[in-house]
Amino acid sequence: MKKDNLWVSYTKEDRKKAEEVCGRYKKCLDQGKTERECVALAVEMAEERGYRELYSVIKKGESVKAGDKLYAVQMDKSAVFFQLGKKPLSDGMNILGAHIDSPRIDIKQNPLYEKDGFAYFDTHYYGGIKKYQWTTIPMAIHGVIAKKDGTVVRVCIGESDDDPVFVITDLLVHLAGEQMTKKATEVVAGENLDLLIGNCPIEQSEALEKEEKEAIKENVLRILADMYGIEEEDLLSAELEIVPAGKARDLGFDRSMILGYGHDDRVCAFTSVFALLDMADDITDRALCCLLVDKEEIGNVGATGMASHFFENVVAELVAATERDSQILVRRALANSRMLSSDVSAGYDPLYASVFEKNNSAFLAKGLAFNKYTGSRGKRGASDANAEYVAQIRKIMDDADVMYQFSELGRVDVGGGGTIAHIMAEYGMNVIDSGVSVMNMHAPYEVVSKADVYEAVRGYTAFLRA
Ligand code: MN
Ligand code: MN
Repeated sequence: MKKDNLWVSYTKEDRKKAEEVCGRYKKCLDQGKTERECVALAVEMAEERGYRELYSVIKKGESVKAGDKLYAVQMDKSAVFFQLGKKPLSDGMNILGAHIDSPRIDIKQNPLYEKDGFAYFDTHYYGGIKKYQWTTIPMAIHGVIAKKDGTVVRVCIGESDDDPVFVITDLLVHLAGEQMTKKATEVVAGENLDLLIGNCPIEQSEALEKEEKEAIKENVLRILADMYGIEEEDLLSAELEIVPAGKARDLGFDRSMILGYGHDDRVCAFTSVFALLDMADDITDRALCCLLVDKEEIGNVGATGMASHFFENVVAELVAATERDSQILVRRALANSRMLSSDVSAGYDPLYASVFEKNNSAFLAKGLAFNKYTGSRGKRGASDANAEYVAQIRKIMDDADVMYQFSELGRVDVGGGGTIAHIMAEYGMNVIDSGVSVMNMHAPYEVVSKADVYEAVRGYTAFLRA
């Protein structure tokens, strides 16, 4: 089925709206470079629209009724937002789900070391990356340092114009004869992804007093103490993420694309948030939900990943608050729900055409991409949407005049990937993978089409309204 480039059919008004949505999205990308920052930003936007925190509502015994807007947060790293409908929750919800963690380089728990006159942070990468792509580009550090006194210090350095940045160095080409013959997986070793953070020793007088041997490391510690009020041991309880520094930018002479860090999967997460928060105040029949989860890139594990009971627990609380405390009603609420598991698709890249099968590839600027199934090598590990549900989705999208395409991730037996869909499917609900197609996914800077971002918001809105 041939799909045209969306820009061909867009009116001036469409282009203006797409530009507006993308402007808003780029700001969110710049502010949300970690899962914690994404949660904080989404909560801030939701509270502006009158969303209330569910557990404080329950604690205060406040009433909950149709049209109410509620949210819950798990450990500052995943969050869920609801707009209640006229029908009871046990009739099911329309759920938009996306993940807000992105591939990056994490700082180890004993990170700080000095070697031959340089100070470094030792790291362990997070998610599937081509390691060589993450060297020699300006990096920022985002995250938190939790102290024993219970305070949590926020860190964000490398983003404003007068901030310093950091870098993972790579070998100069002049001496790289041997390195250049290695396989790409071995060109840069995981343990060599360490971050260069200093080269100036602590001032002589101070150093002499303390008889410091590692004067450069000591200087970094002094600066960390000044900036954040922390000592070296506090890094044991830190979550510091090294991410590409700088803002998302328009891409191309025609400005039709966006180059940015973390499109996977924030391009689906923020467009889902926009779709829910922008629902007009008319009350829908079914309850609406937007779920933002952590840890997808490393297998959905842990207390903040999709595999945790966070979402189910929150739904149980909501059912108890709006209907009655009943396990069977909770199960019905989940089983009767339908979901768009929104995650990015592999955008067809003409320069690497051989790994794609063109008829079933997602193309940039050809609309919201649906993947009936995911998985790899004989659909192993796939969540496979039911044909009847796919038909329902087609009708919803066509009725709202949303542009979409159906695709799978690469040629058969070449690759594949998973999402959060299979975990929600375990409740027996209808789930289909959908999302924006991305070029050079999992690279420090990824590419999306502005038209697809706009269609995503339109598609998610149509899904919520259906
Ligand atoms: Mn993803
Ligand atoms: Mn990914």
